[in-house]
Amino acid sequence: MGIPETSAWQSALGQLEEVAELLQLDDGMREILRTPKRSLIVAVPIRRDDGRVQVFHGYRVHHNMSRGPAKGGIRYHPMVSLDEVKALAMWMTWKCAVMGIPFGGAKGGVVCDPKEFSRAELERLTRRYASEILPLIGPERDIPAPDVNTDGQIMAWIMDTYSMNKGYSVPGVVTGKPFSIGGSEGRGGATARGVMYCLFCALRDRGIAPADVKVAIQGFGKVGGGVVRFLHDAGCTVVGVSDVAGGVHNPTGLDPAALDGNVAETGTVVGTPGTDTITNAELLALDCEVLVPAALESVITEENAANVKARFVVEGANGPITPAGDRILNDNGVLVVPDVLANAGGVTVSYFEWVQDIQAYFWSEEEVNKRLRGLMEKAYGEVHALSTRRGVPMRQAAQMIGVGRVAEAHQVRGLFP
Ligand code: NAD
Repeated sequence: MGIPETSAWQSALGQLEEVAELLQLDDGMREILRTPKRSLIVAVPIRRDDGRVQVFHGYRVHHNMSRGPAKGGIRYHPMVSLDEVKALAMWMTWKCAVMGIPFGGAKGGVVCDPKEFSRAELERLTRRYASEILPLIGPERDIPAPDVNTDGQIMAWIMDTYSMNKGYSVPGVVTGKPFSIGGSEGRGGATARGVMYCLFCALRDRGIAPADVKVAIQGFGKVGGGVVRFLHDAGCTVVGVSDVAGGVHNPTGLDPAALDGNVAETGTVVGTPGTDTITNAELLALDCEVLVPAALESVITEENAANVKARFVVEGANGPITPAGDRILNDNGVLVVPDVLANAGGVTVSYFEWVQDIQAYFWSEEEVNKRLRGLMEKAYGEVHALSTRRGVPMRQAAQMIGVGRVAEAHQVRGLFP
């Protein structure tokens, strides 16, 4: 079976091909960059609470490590596949390079629905998966972080599993962990904060005030939930939000506290008092200036891109727009702030966390947020300048910077042996 047109891996390869052309990379370099350095497939057997043994499948992929240790999240989701993990690892490589962070790209995942697990089962699955990928991870080789359906507690179990094997505490093996074991101030909201900084750069360039925009956000998790709160507090009107169960809409603005309350009670934003229920498809086509897809990949495709009414799409999620969808948005004059820039706030503060762990010296939240804002605005400025100079969309400009820096690292290091 071929790779589906709308698969994340197909999108990632297509984007790389276009950028390699613009950068005039030779065939050998293209082949190096499109091939993950290593891919590990593991079996993850666990004992369920009722005594049954069940085997899950997990992956850890290192896409490229020419600029430093590999960095990337771990996802627990029924749709995780090796191809998806390869795509996400490749995007991490470009993202770290765009931000000028000395990391390569990695990603991992376990094919499972974590909602089916008790807390004890989740811990056993996490510790066994961590044990299986132990040969790949470590503060100087590969540093996992949270992604879809994983969080600080899961990072804490991975850190503990790794540390027990070493015989001493190694906080720098994961990021996004709780503050009590070496986490960083500001990591929880970092990705969402970075999305906000990018949006504000884009609005500023067009002379638009945040208070004058209506926003729709797909996803109400670690990224989407943070974006809702930050943008609401910054004066934007959040008119639509969705999660896996559906969406809610109120043209005069949603109240983040009411959404939080409904999620705490029912597990979804759907049904929040004072809102109309909408589908995820309707959410993407809402009447608004700004759309932030912050759930999963390949949600805006050639099928529905023409329905998008927003003038700005800021990618909180990784790969939410397929290349065909991208072309339609671009033709329609929509400014897309691409994932490798827009959601890089998370890996940027993960980098700060890793630096703090290694130095055993911790910064204030104010310091973290100030440094994050500085790096995001610098990267946005570089991408925007190249986009204008070369007359290419922001995605291609960002990837030209990212891919170009990685290619340069390969060139200067030379090919071993
Ligand atoms: P999360 O698990 O915290 O939240 C995911 C959200 O998406 C939930 O609200 C869930 O209900 C919703 N969702 C899932 N499937 C959906 C569907 N089919 N339709 C609509 N909504 C759906 O995950 P997260 O950490 O917020 O990650 C979201 C995206 O952001 C992913 O693409 C991830 O790779 C990317 N990302 C995350 C970080 C981070 O720091 N967590 C950093 C960079 C990028």
